[in-house]
Amino acid sequence: MKPNDSGKGLDTILRAKLLAEAASAAEQAYAPYSGFRVGAAVLGGRGAIYRGANVENASLGLGTCAERVALASAYAAGERDIIAVAVACVDAPQGAPLEQRMPCGACRQWIQELAPQAAIIVPGAERSFTLQELMPLAFSLDSGHRNGRGGLG
Ligand SMILES: [Zn+2]
Repeated sequence: MKPNDSGKGLDTILRAKLLAEAASAAEQAYAPYSGFRVGAAVLGGRGAIYRGANVENASLGLGTCAERVALASAYAAGERDIIAVAVACVDAPQGAPLEQRMPCGACRQWIQELAPQAAIIVPGAERSFTLQELMPLAFSLDSGHRNGRGGLG
């Protein structure tokens, strides 16, 4: 499963499938403070889909986003080739602007680190996005030194 070359990213059917997985994952969110449930679905190069949901904490800064949960799950399963990251904010108001449904800055940095080539998929957009579009000149250490199995060197 690789993105097609149409210039629009992943095909419509695959995008819809990943968005459905993300929306389903949001049902498991732990969001008692914000009431804003988010789900994510990460497609690995082996074809597996890894789901995540936001998990909040009474110490508010310790909560984490659905995208990071899903990416961590994918990496914990040994995935290193991430094809796509889909995000579904199921509690966003109907017709909310696209900006309210995009990955936050912290998650964009995680995507930079763990899935820089991934197609980024959000509901209501006609196409997927690249990280370069969402975070030009992203912070990165020289990835040529990474061994791909965790850690530098
Ligand atoms: Zn985030």
